[in-house]
Parts: sequence; structure tokens; C-alpha cells
Amino acid sequence: MNKPIYSFEVFPPKPDAPVESVSRCFAALAALKPDFISVTYGAGGGTAGGRLTCELAARLKEEFGIRPVAHLPCISYTKEEIAAVLKDFAAHGIQDILALRGDKSPDRPEKHDFHYASELIDFIRTKGDFSLYAACYPEVHPEAHSPEDDLRHLKEKVDKGAGHLISQLFFDNDHFYRFRERCAAAGIAVPIEAGIMPVVNAAQIQRMVSLCGASLPRKFTVMMQRFGHSPEAMRDAGIAYAVDQIVDLAANGVDGIHLYTMNNPLVAQRITESVSGILGR
Ligand code: FAD
Repeated sequence: MNKPIYSFEVFPPKPDAPVESVSRCFAALAALKPDFISVTYGAGGGTAGGRLTCELAARLKEEFGIRPVAHLPCISYTKEEIAAVLKDFAAHGIQDILALRGDKSPDRPEKHDFHYASELIDFIRTKGDFSLYAACYPEVHPEAHSPEDDLRHLKEKVDKGAGHLISQLFFDNDHFYRFRERCAAAGIAVPIEAGIMPVVNAAQIQRMVSLCGASLPRKFTVMMQRFGHSPEAMRDAGIAYAVDQIVDLAANGVDGIHLYTMNNPLVAQRITESVSGILGR
């Protein structure tokens, strides 16, 4: 029986906040000994976002001995810009990249060198020996024409070289199980980590769900209604809900758990303590 992978996601501080502001968070997360920590791509024009992601990923590796995975979205960048970011990653010893299309936003015009993550995967493979990860969507990507189309495009990413998938967050494990079965039937045989987001405040959930379209099971909405007004109760309930999801996923042989930490090490710590035996850590 394979031990599930256990990993975290962090994001860079806002451009006007000092990078030091995340140092304490990184130290606390690193102490929980995840298999890797992924760093989202920071906001900023040109390659500024990439430099920040690179700097933080390098710190995780050098200061804390944690394997970093750098996120890299492509639609708002030219090939030259992406090549410069990749050079920076390589120079800092960052070998693991989550290759992404990026969300479409009027604030970030598309540059039309890349249209899909699969094109970025092709491009990265011409630029060095990186380990490639890709995103997947148990409830189907919101812009996909159909679930079948989405799965076909996911398979393209794997066939082109993504050796590891990380899922969008979800609150109903059944979506994940059905998706995993469809992946297996389509011949997708790489590890699929389940993305788990502990919801510890009511404001967070509205923003997240409108962004990613995750469906909310009754058990979850009842919890929000009952505890959403109380920060302490919501924190405890959100942690318990995430733990419950992880226990069920582990019991069903999940390849890995990717915890969206929202840079909150206390929440990650409580969850990790609750599931370490279950995950064999
Ligand atoms: P793709 O795999 O390119 O798919 C996008 C859409 O296009 C899908 O609907 C797919 O079905 C369709 N498609 C794919 N290929 C084709 C094709 N050849 N022809 C027609 N249709 C096609 N965004 C950031 O900006 N920064 C981050 O750090 C970040 N981190 C993320 C981490 C995870 C784990 C996840 C799940 C998402 C993250 N995102 C991030 C958001 C991501 O950029 C968006 O979800 C984006 O809308 C899709 O990215 P993708 O790489 O999955 O796209």
C-alpha cells in the first residue's frame, strides 16, 4: 500500500508587502514536513510575478530543505518572458513546475503565444529537464465544452509530459472518485493529488466558489449557516470538515492530498496533526 503524497500550496505576499512577511509561515509549514510545497505565481506585469515565485521557491529549498514546485501560468506571457522565467527557475535549482494556462482576466491581457497549458508543457520541454505537473478539475473546468472534452485535453497534458496532477478544490469526495474512475478509463495513469481547501471563514468561501465553481454539498452549507457568523466555530468546523474529507480520501486509496493552506500554518498544523497517522507520516 503506497503512502499518499502530502503537499501544501502557498502564495506570495502582495507586491507592497515584504517577502519576510511569509518567512514565519514558511518555517511553520516546513516543520510539518510535507513532500513538497507549491508556490502560486505572484501578481505583477512581465516577469515580476515569476521572480517572486522563484525567490520564494528558492527559499523553501535553501532555508528549509523543502522541495518547491513553482506554478507557471502562460496566457498572459510571451515565449520570451516564459523563457526568462524558466532560466531563472533553473538558475535557482527549481526543477518542479506546475504548468498552467492561467485564468483569463481583463486586468491581464493575453499575449497569444500560448493558449493552453499543453502548449506550455511542450515549450518547457524544449528548455530544460524540468519535472512537470498539471492542474485537473474533478467537477470539470468551467470553460470546457463537455466533461469528455476536458478529459481529452487533460490526457494531452499527461501525454506531453505532465507526470503528476493536482486537482482543483472540491467539497464532495464523490466528485473526485467519479473523476478518478474516468481518468483511469481514459488511460491517465499518473498520480492525482486531491486539492483540499479548509474553509475557515465565511467570506473566503463565496470568493472561492465563484472563482472555481465547486459545488457545495448540503452538509457543507448547513455547517456554513450554523457556524459562519462565529470565527472560532467556523475555524473548528472548517478544519473538521477538511479532516473528514482527507480521512475518507485516504480510506479510498487517494494518491495524495494537496492542502490549500491560504498561508495559514495554524490551520495546516491542526489538520496535519489529525491525519498524520492516517497518511502514514
Ligand atoms: P488548460 O489545461 O489549458 O485548460 C483550460 C481550458 O481549456 C479547459 O476548459 C480545457 O478543457 C480547455 N482546453 C485545453 N486544451 C484545449 C485544446 N487544445 N483545445 C480546446 N480546448 C482546450 N492560476 C494562476 O494564474 N496562477 C496559479 O498559480 C494557479 N495555480 C493553480 C493551481 C491549481 C492546482 C489549479 C487547479 C489551478 C491553478 N490556477 C492558477 C488556475 C488555472 O490557471 C485556471 O484554472 C485556468 O482557468 C486553467 O488552467 P489549466 O492549466 O488547467 O488550463
